[in-house]
Amino acid sequence: MRTPAETAPNRPAAAVNGLPLQVAVIGAGPSGCYAAQALRKGQPDIEIAVFDALPTPFGLVRYGIAPDHQGAKAVSRQFERLFGQPGVAFVGNVSVGTDVSLEALLENFHAVVLATGLGTDRRLGVDQDPDARVIGAGDLIRLLNSDPDARLRHRHAGPESLGSEVVILGTGNVSADVARLLSKSDLDFIASDVDDDALRAVAPNPVRTIHILGRCEPHAAKWDASMVKELAEIVGVHLNVDGVPLLGEPTASARTTVNVRFQHVPVSVRRLDGRVRVTTRRAGDSALVDHLDADTVITAIGFDPSPAQSAQFGGVEASNVFRVGGPATGRLGNLAENRKLAADAAKGVLEFLRGQEPLHRTGLVGLRDRLPASVVSFEAWQRIDGAEVRRARPDRCRTKFTTRDELLAAAAGSGALVSIPTATPEAIDTTGEVK
Ligand SMILES: Cc1cc2nc3c(=O)[nH]c(=O)nc-3n(C[C@H](O)[C@H](O)[C@H](O)COP(=O)(O)OP(=O)(O)OC[C@H]3O[C@@H](n4cnc5c(N)ncnc54)[C@H](O)[C@@H]3O)c2cc1C
Repeated sequence: MRTPAETAPNRPAAAVNGLPLQVAVIGAGPSGCYAAQALRKGQPDIEIAVFDALPTPFGLVRYGIAPDHQGAKAVSRQFERLFGQPGVAFVGNVSVGTDVSLEALLENFHAVVLATGLGTDRRLGVDQDPDARVIGAGDLIRLLNSDPDARLRHRHAGPESLGSEVVILGTGNVSADVARLLSKSDLDFIASDVDDDALRAVAPNPVRTIHILGRCEPHAAKWDASMVKELAEIVGVHLNVDGVPLLGEPTASARTTVNVRFQHVPVSVRRLDGRVRVTTRRAGDSALVDHLDADTVITAIGFDPSPAQSAQFGGVEASNVFRVGGPATGRLGNLAENRKLAADAAKGVLEFLRGQEPLHRTGLVGLRDRLPASVVSFEAWQRIDGAEVRRARPDRCRTKFTTRDELLAAAAGSGALVSIPTATPEAIDTTGEVK
Protein backbone atom coordinates (compact mmCIF):
# COMPACT_ATOMS: atom_id res chain seq x y z
CA MET A 1 0.00 0.00 0.00
CA ARG A 2 1.26 3.50 -0.80
CA THR A 3 2.02 5.71 2.19
CA PRO A 4 0.41 9.14 2.44
CA ALA A 5 3.77 10.70 1.60
CA GLU A 6 3.90 8.81 -1.68
CA THR A 7 0.47 10.00 -2.66
CA ALA A 8 1.15 13.53 -1.47
CA PRO A 9 1.80 15.91 -4.37
CA ASN A 10 -1.62 16.09 -5.99
CA ARG A 11 -3.74 15.23 -3.04
CA PRO A 12 -5.35 18.03 -1.05
CA ALA A 13 -4.43 18.00 2.63
CA ALA A 14 -7.17 16.00 4.33
CA ALA A 15 -9.03 17.11 7.34
CA VAL A 16 -8.61 14.54 10.10
CA ASN A 17 -11.94 12.76 10.66
CA GLY A 18 -13.71 15.87 9.52
CA LEU A 19 -11.55 18.15 11.69
CA PRO A 20 -9.34 20.69 9.97
CA LEU A 21 -5.56 20.72 9.89
CA GLN A 22 -4.10 23.10 12.45
CA VAL A 23 -1.09 25.37 11.94
CA ALA A 24 0.44 27.76 14.47
CA VAL A 25 2.37 30.75 13.20
CA ILE A 26 4.66 32.50 15.69
CA GLY A 27 4.88 36.18 14.78
CA ALA A 28 2.13 38.37 13.30
CA GLY A 29 4.51 40.49 11.24
CA PRO A 30 4.39 40.48 7.44
CA SER A 31 6.20 37.11 7.15
CA GLY A 32 3.71 35.41 9.46
CA CYS A 33 0.70 37.11 7.83
CA TYR A 34 1.88 36.36 4.29
CA ALA A 35 2.53 32.74 5.30
CA ALA A 36 -0.98 32.45 6.78
CA GLN A 37 -2.46 34.01 3.62
CA ALA A 38 -0.61 31.55 1.40
CA LEU A 39 -1.56 28.58 3.59
CA ARG A 40 -5.24 29.49 3.35
CA LYS A 41 -4.94 30.02 -0.38
CA GLY A 42 -3.41 26.56 -0.80
CA GLN A 43 -5.81 24.88 1.65
CA PRO A 44 -8.85 27.06 2.39
CA ASP A 45 -10.15 24.96 5.31
CA ILE A 46 -6.86 24.92 7.23
CA GLU A 47 -7.10 26.58 10.65
CA ILE A 48 -4.38 28.97 11.67
CA ALA A 49 -3.51 30.65 14.95
CA VAL A 50 -1.05 33.52 14.63
CA PHE A 51 0.68 34.29 17.95
CA ASP A 52 2.43 37.54 18.73
CA ALA A 53 4.30 38.66 21.82
CA LEU A 54 2.90 42.15 21.33
CA PRO A 55 -0.76 43.01 21.98
CA THR A 56 -0.91 44.29 18.39
CA PRO A 57 -0.49 42.54 15.04
CA PHE A 58 1.66 43.42 11.97
CA GLY A 59 5.17 43.52 13.54
CA LEU A 60 7.40 46.09 11.87
CA VAL A 61 4.62 47.31 9.60
CA ARG A 62 3.39 48.99 12.75
CA TYR A 63 6.69 49.52 14.58
CA GLY A 64 9.36 49.63 11.84
CA ILE A 65 8.13 51.16 8.59
CA ALA A 66 8.53 54.89 9.04
CA PRO A 67 5.50 56.77 10.40
CA ASP A 68 5.56 59.20 7.46
CA HIS A 69 5.31 56.31 4.97
CA GLN A 70 1.65 55.48 5.46
CA GLY A 71 1.44 54.09 1.93
CA ALA A 72 3.80 51.24 2.84
CA LYS A 73 2.02 50.70 6.14
CA ALA A 74 -1.28 50.23 4.29
CA VAL A 75 -0.36 46.57 3.67
CA SER A 76 -1.86 45.98 7.12
CA ARG A 77 -5.31 46.36 5.52
CA GLN A 78 -4.87 43.17 3.53
CA PHE A 79 -3.69 41.38 6.68
CA GLU A 80 -6.82 42.62 8.44
CA ARG A 81 -8.91 40.84 5.84
CA LEU A 82 -6.97 37.66 6.63
CA PHE A 83 -7.85 37.85 10.31
CA GLY A 84 -11.45 38.60 9.42
CA GLN A 85 -11.79 35.06 8.04
CA PRO A 86 -13.28 32.31 10.22
CA GLY A 87 -10.56 29.82 11.13
CA VAL A 88 -7.77 32.42 11.32
CA ALA A 89 -7.08 33.73 14.83
CA PHE A 90 -4.80 36.45 16.12
CA VAL A 91 -3.44 35.45 19.53
CA GLY A 92 -1.82 38.66 20.72
CA ASN A 93 0.12 39.42 23.87
CA VAL A 94 1.39 35.84 24.03
CA SER A 95 5.13 35.32 23.81
CA VAL A 96 5.89 31.80 22.65
CA GLY A 97 8.73 30.41 24.72
CA THR A 98 7.71 32.52 27.72
CA ASP A 99 3.91 32.60 28.12
CA VAL A 100 3.37 29.30 26.34
CA SER A 101 6.00 26.79 25.30
CA LEU A 102 6.87 25.78 21.76
CA GLU A 103 6.30 22.17 22.92
CA ALA A 104 2.71 23.06 23.83
CA LEU A 105 2.21 24.38 20.30
CA LEU A 106 3.74 21.25 18.79
CA GLU A 107 1.34 19.11 20.86
CA ASN A 108 -1.70 21.00 19.59
CA PHE A 109 -0.88 21.89 15.99
CA HIS A 110 0.13 19.78 13.02
CA ALA A 111 2.85 22.28 12.05
CA VAL A 112 4.46 25.40 13.48
CA VAL A 113 5.85 28.28 11.43
CA LEU A 114 8.51 30.50 13.05
CA ALA A 115 8.03 34.05 11.75
CA THR A 116 9.67 35.88 14.61
CA GLY A 117 11.66 38.40 12.57
CA LEU A 118 15.00 39.77 13.74
CA GLY A 119 14.47 41.70 16.93
CA THR A 120 17.79 43.49 17.46
CA ASP A 121 19.93 46.07 15.69
CA ARG A 122 23.17 44.42 14.56
CA ARG A 123 26.07 45.49 16.76
CA LEU A 124 28.89 47.47 15.25
CA GLY A 125 31.89 45.17 15.45
CA VAL A 126 34.51 47.81 16.15
CA ASP A 127 36.44 49.01 19.16
CA GLN A 128 33.92 51.06 21.09
CA ASP A 129 33.83 52.83 24.47
CA PRO A 130 30.99 51.29 26.48
CA ASP A 131 29.68 54.73 27.48
CA ALA A 132 29.91 56.29 24.00
CA ARG A 133 26.45 57.38 22.88
CA VAL A 134 25.60 54.79 20.24
CA ILE A 135 22.02 53.75 19.50
CA GLY A 136 20.43 51.43 16.93
CA ALA A 137 18.32 52.80 14.07
CA GLY A 138 15.73 50.06 14.65
CA ASP A 139 15.43 51.07 18.31
CA LEU A 140 15.07 54.74 17.35
CA ILE A 141 12.39 54.05 14.75
CA ARG A 142 10.53 51.75 17.15
CA LEU A 143 10.49 54.67 19.60
CA LEU A 144 9.18 57.10 16.96
CA ASN A 145 6.57 54.46 16.05
CA SER A 146 5.39 54.19 19.70
CA ASP A 147 6.57 50.62 20.29
CA PRO A 148 5.83 50.03 23.99
CA ASP A 149 8.95 47.86 24.24
CA ALA A 150 11.33 50.30 22.48
CA ARG A 151 14.55 50.14 24.46
CA LEU A 152 15.07 53.90 24.29
CA ARG A 153 11.74 54.44 26.04
CA HIS A 154 12.87 52.28 28.94
CA ARG A 155 16.18 53.95 29.64
CA HIS A 156 16.54 55.14 33.21
CA ALA A 157 16.10 58.80 32.20
CA GLY A 158 13.66 58.08 29.36
CA PRO A 159 14.40 58.98 25.75
CA GLU A 160 16.92 61.81 25.58
CA SER A 161 17.99 64.36 22.98
CA LEU A 162 20.23 63.08 20.20
CA GLY A 163 21.89 66.52 20.03
CA SER A 164 22.36 68.79 17.05
CA GLU A 165 24.90 66.67 15.16
CA VAL A 166 24.57 62.94 14.54
CA VAL A 167 26.43 60.29 12.60
CA ILE A 168 24.44 57.51 10.93
CA LEU A 169 26.47 54.44 10.01
CA GLY A 170 25.16 52.55 6.98
CA THR A 171 23.70 53.46 3.59
CA GLY A 172 20.55 51.36 3.36
CA ASN A 173 16.89 52.35 3.39
CA VAL A 174 16.75 52.31 7.20
CA SER A 175 19.58 54.85 7.30
CA ALA A 176 17.66 57.07 4.85
CA ASP A 177 14.51 56.67 6.99
CA VAL A 178 16.35 57.89 10.09
CA ALA A 179 17.94 60.84 8.27
CA ARG A 180 14.55 61.84 6.83
CA LEU A 181 12.69 61.56 10.14
CA LEU A 182 15.34 63.67 11.92
CA SER A 183 15.36 66.28 9.12
CA LYS A 184 11.63 66.95 9.00
CA SER A 185 9.73 69.78 10.60
CA ASP A 186 6.43 69.28 12.43
CA LEU A 187 4.51 70.25 9.28
CA ASP A 188 6.23 67.49 7.33
CA PHE A 189 4.55 64.93 9.60
CA ILE A 190 0.98 65.84 8.63
CA ALA A 191 -1.14 62.68 8.18
CA SER A 192 1.56 60.51 9.78
CA ASP A 193 1.29 58.58 13.04
CA VAL A 194 4.66 59.67 14.39
CA ASP A 195 5.00 59.61 18.17
CA ASP A 196 5.16 63.38 18.67
CA ASP A 197 6.26 63.15 22.32
CA ALA A 198 9.10 60.81 21.44
CA LEU A 199 10.15 62.98 18.52
CA ARG A 200 10.22 66.06 20.75
CA ALA A 201 12.31 64.15 23.29
CA VAL A 202 14.96 62.98 20.81
CA ALA A 203 14.96 66.15 18.67
CA PRO A 204 13.79 69.07 20.85
CA ASN A 205 15.61 71.33 18.35
CA PRO A 206 16.21 70.54 14.68
CA VAL A 207 19.14 68.20 14.15
CA ARG A 208 21.44 70.63 12.31
CA THR A 209 23.95 68.21 10.81
CA ILE A 210 23.61 64.57 9.88
CA HIS A 211 26.62 62.66 8.60
CA ILE A 212 25.84 59.39 6.85
CA LEU A 213 28.89 57.15 6.51
CA GLY A 214 28.97 54.16 4.14
CA ARG A 215 31.76 51.62 3.79
CA CYS A 216 30.95 50.93 0.15
CA GLU A 217 31.29 52.92 -3.06
CA PRO A 218 28.27 55.08 -4.03
CA HIS A 219 26.95 52.64 -6.66
CA ALA A 220 26.95 49.80 -4.10
CA ALA A 221 24.77 51.62 -1.55
CA LYS A 222 21.75 49.49 -0.62
CA TRP A 223 19.21 52.29 -0.43
CA ASP A 224 16.69 52.92 -3.17
CA ALA A 225 17.36 56.06 -5.23
CA SER A 226 13.79 57.18 -4.45
CA MET A 227 14.66 57.30 -0.73
CA VAL A 228 17.61 59.63 -1.35
CA LYS A 229 15.50 61.81 -3.65
CA GLU A 230 12.79 62.06 -1.00
CA LEU A 231 15.39 63.17 1.56
CA ALA A 232 16.89 65.75 -0.78
CA GLU A 233 13.46 67.21 -1.56
CA ILE A 234 12.48 68.02 2.03
CA VAL A 235 12.19 71.80 2.30
CA GLY A 236 15.01 73.09 4.52
CA VAL A 237 17.27 70.09 3.94
CA HIS A 238 20.52 70.37 2.04
CA LEU A 239 22.09 67.10 0.92
CA ASN A 240 25.76 66.68 -0.07
CA VAL A 241 27.14 63.42 -1.41
CA ASP A 242 30.92 63.13 -1.01
CA GLY A 243 31.07 66.92 -0.79
CA VAL A 244 28.93 67.59 -3.85
CA PRO A 245 25.46 69.17 -3.36
CA LEU A 246 22.83 66.77 -4.72
CA LEU A 247 20.25 69.33 -5.86
CA GLY A 248 22.53 72.28 -6.58
CA GLU A 249 23.46 74.97 -4.06
CA PRO A 250 20.75 75.72 -1.49
CA THR A 251 18.86 78.97 -2.06
CA ALA A 252 18.16 79.62 1.59
CA SER A 253 20.09 78.61 4.67
CA ALA A 254 19.45 74.96 5.38
CA ARG A 255 17.65 73.82 8.53
CA THR A 256 19.49 70.51 8.32
CA THR A 257 22.56 69.60 6.29
CA VAL A 258 23.00 65.94 5.43
CA ASN A 259 26.51 64.90 4.39
CA VAL A 260 26.81 61.45 2.84
CA ARG A 261 30.34 60.04 2.66
CA PHE A 262 31.19 56.75 1.03
CA GLN A 263 34.17 54.45 1.50
CA HIS A 264 34.51 55.37 5.15
CA VAL A 265 35.08 52.19 7.17
CA PRO A 266 34.51 52.67 10.92
CA VAL A 267 37.48 51.71 13.06
CA SER A 268 36.50 52.94 16.53
CA VAL A 269 33.89 54.89 18.44
CA ARG A 270 35.17 56.81 21.45
CA ARG A 271 33.60 59.07 24.02
CA LEU A 272 35.35 62.45 23.91
CA ASP A 273 34.44 65.49 26.04
CA GLY A 274 30.80 64.41 26.32
CA ARG A 275 30.53 63.80 22.57
CA VAL A 276 31.36 60.83 20.36
CA ARG A 277 34.33 60.53 18.02
CA VAL A 278 34.00 58.13 15.09
CA THR A 279 37.31 57.19 13.51
CA THR A 280 37.21 55.77 10.01
CA ARG A 281 39.76 54.60 7.51
CA ARG A 282 39.29 55.04 3.79
CA ALA A 283 38.33 51.86 1.93
CA GLY A 284 41.21 50.93 -0.39
CA ASP A 285 43.70 53.15 1.47
CA SER A 286 43.78 52.32 5.17
CA ALA A 287 46.48 54.96 5.76
CA LEU A 288 43.82 57.64 5.20
CA VAL A 289 42.19 58.10 8.59
CA ASP A 290 39.35 60.52 9.36
CA HIS A 291 37.76 61.61 12.63
CA LEU A 292 34.23 62.86 12.95
CA ASP A 293 32.83 64.26 16.21
CA ALA A 294 29.10 64.26 16.91
CA ASP A 295 26.58 64.07 19.74
CA THR A 296 25.19 60.64 18.89
CA VAL A 297 26.03 57.73 16.62
CA ILE A 298 23.14 55.78 15.11
CA THR A 299 23.91 52.36 13.63
CA ALA A 300 21.85 51.25 10.63
CA ILE A 301 23.81 48.17 9.61
CA GLY A 302 21.18 45.42 9.68
CA PHE A 303 19.40 43.27 12.23
CA ASP A 304 20.03 40.05 14.16
CA PRO A 305 17.85 37.71 16.22
CA SER A 306 17.42 38.99 19.77
CA PRO A 307 19.14 36.90 22.47
CA ALA A 308 15.67 35.63 23.53
CA GLN A 309 14.87 34.56 19.95
CA SER A 310 18.19 32.71 19.66
CA ALA A 311 17.71 31.01 23.03
CA GLN A 312 14.11 29.99 22.34
CA PHE A 313 14.24 28.89 18.72
CA GLY A 314 17.90 28.83 17.63
CA GLY A 315 18.50 25.10 17.86
CA VAL A 316 14.95 23.90 17.18
CA GLU A 317 14.92 21.36 14.37
CA ALA A 318 11.81 19.27 13.80
CA SER A 319 10.16 18.11 10.59
CA ASN A 320 6.99 20.06 11.41
CA VAL A 321 8.74 23.33 12.30
CA PHE A 322 9.19 25.79 9.43
CA ARG A 323 10.91 29.17 9.25
CA VAL A 324 10.07 32.30 7.27
CA GLY A 325 11.65 35.75 7.01
CA GLY A 326 14.65 36.54 9.21
CA PRO A 327 14.77 33.17 11.01
CA ALA A 328 15.13 31.51 7.57
CA THR A 329 17.51 33.92 5.85
CA GLY A 330 19.27 35.95 8.57
CA ARG A 331 18.06 39.10 6.77
CA LEU A 332 15.11 41.28 7.65
CA GLY A 333 14.35 41.86 3.97
CA ASN A 334 11.50 43.97 2.65
CA LEU A 335 7.82 43.19 2.21
CA ALA A 336 8.09 41.92 -1.36
CA GLU A 337 10.94 39.54 -0.49
CA ASN A 338 9.20 38.25 2.61
CA ARG A 339 5.97 37.71 0.73
CA LYS A 340 7.77 35.44 -1.72
CA LEU A 341 9.63 33.60 1.06
CA ALA A 342 6.38 33.10 2.94
CA ALA A 343 4.65 31.70 -0.15
CA ASP A 344 7.51 29.20 -0.60
CA ALA A 345 7.43 28.23 3.07
CA ALA A 346 3.64 27.75 2.95
CA LYS A 347 4.09 25.42 -0.01
CA GLY A 348 6.57 23.41 2.09
CA VAL A 349 4.15 23.26 5.00
CA LEU A 350 1.29 22.03 2.81
CA GLU A 351 3.49 19.43 1.15
CA PHE A 352 4.57 18.24 4.59
CA LEU A 353 0.98 18.04 5.82
CA ARG A 354 -0.11 16.17 2.72
CA GLY A 355 2.60 13.61 3.40
CA GLN A 356 1.60 12.87 7.00
CA GLU A 357 -0.48 10.16 8.60
CA PRO A 358 -3.49 12.01 10.03
CA LEU A 359 -3.24 12.88 13.73
CA HIS A 360 -5.81 14.62 15.88
CA ARG A 361 -4.75 18.14 16.76
CA THR A 362 -7.10 20.57 18.45
CA GLY A 363 -5.27 23.81 17.67
CA LEU A 364 -6.06 26.80 19.82
CA VAL A 365 -8.80 25.00 21.70
CA GLY A 366 -6.26 22.58 23.16
CA LEU A 367 -4.28 25.51 24.53
CA ARG A 368 -7.26 27.15 26.15
CA ASP A 369 -6.12 26.60 29.73
CA ARG A 370 -2.47 27.36 29.08
CA LEU A 371 -2.74 30.85 27.66
CA PRO A 372 -2.51 33.94 29.87
CA ALA A 373 -5.78 35.74 30.68
CA SER A 374 -4.59 38.88 28.92
CA VAL A 375 -4.67 37.37 25.42
CA VAL A 376 -5.64 39.93 22.78
CA SER A 377 -7.86 38.63 19.98
CA PHE A 378 -8.31 40.28 16.61
CA GLU A 379 -11.58 41.88 17.75
CA ALA A 380 -9.72 43.32 20.75
CA TRP A 381 -7.01 44.65 18.43
CA GLN A 382 -9.74 46.37 16.45
CA ARG A 383 -10.79 48.15 19.64
CA ILE A 384 -7.19 49.36 20.10
CA ASP A 385 -7.11 50.43 16.46
CA GLY A 386 -10.34 52.41 16.74
CA ALA A 387 -9.26 54.09 19.98
CA GLU A 388 -5.92 55.16 18.49
CA VAL A 389 -7.58 56.67 15.44
CA ARG A 390 -10.16 58.47 17.59
CA ARG A 391 -7.53 60.00 19.90
CA ALA A 392 -5.33 61.25 17.03
CA ARG A 393 -4.36 64.91 16.83
CA PRO A 394 -6.30 66.52 13.95
CA ASP A 395 -3.23 66.52 11.70
CA ARG A 396 -2.18 62.94 12.50
CA CYS A 397 -3.82 59.74 11.22
CA ARG A 398 -3.52 58.02 14.60
CA THR A 399 -1.89 58.49 17.96
CA LYS A 400 -0.68 55.15 19.22
CA PHE A 401 -0.71 54.01 22.82
CA THR A 402 2.84 53.76 24.08
CA THR A 403 2.53 51.34 26.99
CA ARG A 404 1.30 47.77 27.23
CA ASP A 405 -1.10 48.79 30.01
CA GLU A 406 -2.74 51.40 27.77
CA LEU A 407 -2.93 48.93 24.89
CA LEU A 408 -4.51 46.26 27.08
CA ALA A 409 -6.99 48.73 28.54
CA ALA A 410 -8.01 49.77 25.03
CA ALA A 411 -8.20 46.11 24.02
CA ALA A 412 -10.55 45.43 26.89
CA GLY A 413 -12.82 48.26 25.81
CA SER A 414 -15.70 48.55 28.18
CA GLY A 415 -15.58 44.93 29.23
CA ALA A 416 -13.15 42.23 30.15
CA LEU A 417 -10.28 41.04 28.02
CA VAL A 418 -11.21 38.85 25.23
CA SER A 419 -11.94 35.23 24.73
CA ILE A 420 -10.10 33.63 21.86
CA PRO A 421 -12.27 32.73 18.88
CA THR A 422 -12.34 28.99 18.34
CA ALA A 423 -13.24 27.74 14.94
CA THR A 424 -14.77 24.39 15.80
CA PRO A 425 -16.15 24.53 19.34
CA GLU A 426 -18.89 22.07 18.52
CA ALA A 427 -16.25 19.46 17.75
CA ILE A 428 -14.80 19.66 21.25
CA ASP A 429 -16.44 18.27 24.36
CA THR A 430 -16.29 19.94 27.75
CA THR A 431 -13.06 18.23 28.74
CA GLY A 432 -11.32 19.69 25.73
CA GLU A 433 -11.10 16.30 23.99
CA VAL A 434 -11.94 15.91 20.32
CA LYS A 435 -15.25 14.14 19.94
C1 LIG B 1 12.92 51.14 9.95
C2 LIG B 1 12.36 50.16 8.96
C3 LIG B 1 11.68 50.60 7.85
C4 LIG B 1 11.19 49.71 6.91
N1 LIG B 1 10.51 50.19 5.83
C5 LIG B 1 10.08 49.31 4.89
C6 LIG B 1 9.37 49.77 3.73
O1 LIG B 1 9.13 50.97 3.57
N2 LIG B 1 8.98 48.85 2.80
C7 LIG B 1 9.26 47.51 2.97
O2 LIG B 1 8.91 46.71 2.08
N3 LIG B 1 9.89 47.05 4.07
C8 LIG B 1 10.30 47.91 5.03
N4 LIG B 1 10.95 47.44 6.13
C9 LIG B 1 11.18 46.00 6.26
C10 LIG B 1 9.93 45.28 6.80
O3 LIG B 1 9.52 45.91 7.98
C11 LIG B 1 10.31 43.83 7.03
O4 LIG B 1 10.56 43.23 5.77
C12 LIG B 1 9.19 43.03 7.67
O5 LIG B 1 8.61 43.69 8.77
C13 LIG B 1 9.72 41.68 8.15
O6 LIG B 1 8.61 40.96 8.56
P1 LIG B 1 8.71 39.78 9.60
O7 LIG B 1 7.34 39.31 9.82
O8 LIG B 1 9.72 38.80 9.14
O9 LIG B 1 9.32 40.43 10.92
P2 LIG B 1 8.65 41.46 11.92
O10 LIG B 1 7.92 42.52 11.18
O11 LIG B 1 9.73 41.87 12.85
O12 LIG B 1 7.57 40.59 12.73
C14 LIG B 1 8.00 39.59 13.63
C15 LIG B 1 6.92 39.46 14.71
O13 LIG B 1 7.23 38.32 15.52
C16 LIG B 1 6.88 38.63 16.85
N5 LIG B 1 7.62 37.74 17.75
C17 LIG B 1 8.96 37.67 17.90
N6 LIG B 1 9.26 36.72 18.82
C18 LIG B 1 8.08 36.19 19.25
C19 LIG B 1 7.73 35.17 20.19
N7 LIG B 1 8.65 34.51 20.88
N8 LIG B 1 6.41 34.88 20.39
C20 LIG B 1 5.45 35.55 19.68
N9 LIG B 1 5.75 36.53 18.79
C21 LIG B 1 7.04 36.84 18.57
C22 LIG B 1 7.28 40.09 17.00
O14 LIG B 1 6.59 40.71 18.09
C23 LIG B 1 6.85 40.66 15.65
O15 LIG B 1 5.54 41.17 15.69
C24 LIG B 1 11.41 48.32 7.10
C25 LIG B 1 12.10 47.86 8.23
C26 LIG B 1 12.56 48.76 9.16
C27 LIG B 1 13.29 48.26 10.39
